[in-house]
Amino acid sequence: MKKDKISIVVPCYNEEECIKKFYDEVNKVSKEMNNQEFELLYINDGSTDNSLEEMKKLYKKDERVRFISFSRNFGKEAGIYAGFENATGDYITVMDVDLQDPPEMIKEMYKGIKEEDYDCVALYSNSHKDYSLLRKGLTKIWYKLIGKISHSTQVPGARDFRLMKRQMVNSILKMGEYNRYIKGIFTYVGFNTKWIGYDTPDRTDGISKFPLTKLFKYAVEGIVSFSTKPLVISAYLGLIFCLVSFIYMIFILIRTLIMGNGVSGWPTLVCLITFLGGLQLFFLGVIGIYISKIYLEVKNRPIYIVKETEKDM
Ligand code: UDP
Ligand code: MG
Repeated sequence: MKKDKISIVVPCYNEEECIKKFYDEVNKVSKEMNNQEFELLYINDGSTDNSLEEMKKLYKKDERVRFISFSRNFGKEAGIYAGFENATGDYITVMDVDLQDPPEMIKEMYKGIKEEDYDCVALYSNSHKDYSLLRKGLTKIWYKLIGKISHSTQVPGARDFRLMKRQMVNSILKMGEYNRYIKGIFTYVGFNTKWIGYDTPDRTDGISKFPLTKLFKYAVEGIVSFSTKPLVISAYLGLIFCLVSFIYMIFILIRTLIMGNGVSGWPTLVCLITFLGGLQLFFLGVIGIYISKIYLEVKNRPIYIVKETEKDM
């Protein structure tokens, strides 16, 4: 009988210290899994260190290793897309190379799909030791917010690490948008998902490639990609302010007719002007963000550009 093939997609950005260690761990798991067919697809996301050389070394040693090297840094989301597009396995997973997604979990995930008939087995973090208190707090608020304003509710602490059937990955590939927010896309495509909690260990080597500024951008991406609520809120707020100012206008009119024209109320006026000015600019900005996303979508630029792969060697 033909063995199932599991493809592991691993986006890497300046991860020279982790690439070999990750391979060793996967190799261990592949042996434990009765040498289940494996494919390890590294994506070199424009690294400026020796990541690519590390991948090439592994490829020469083991032909189950493949790599795709981008022409520059396109971001983890682009890496995931490239991996899904090029993976040849029956089951596909995406993992961080820093071993925060432990390869031995693949065994349990595979069982979930084969024995319990799930389409996808995904992981979420119970605890995350290496996140700062600030990051933990902001992440918590973020999950509450996205759950409220978008239809694609997300499991708090959801990792990108999940094992999926080919069919699910094909659906993800059909969502070819340029501005990608994979956590939302995973939820959007549906399919039966089993969730398993685990304690996320520290990064094995190197430093996080997601500083708070990048995470903030990613959070905005998540909102804009999967919710139009900010636009609706701005419209409603505008309407409320119109109504209030209309009532206030009538009040002033009547007061002037009865009591004559006084010049009191100047501070109120200044406060209102600055407040409304700020609010208008803020929502103009919100609309601007959406327009900039539309702008990038219509340009239809490629999600990633490949410079070389293992086939070029
Ligand atoms: N990564 C990537 N491109 C980027 C940033 C990150 O391919 O522009 C990869 C990175 O090499 C790692 C994974 O995405 O394999 C997750 O990054 P990291 O561990 O730094 O994020 P954290 O765990 O701190 O959220
Ligand atoms: Mg990490």
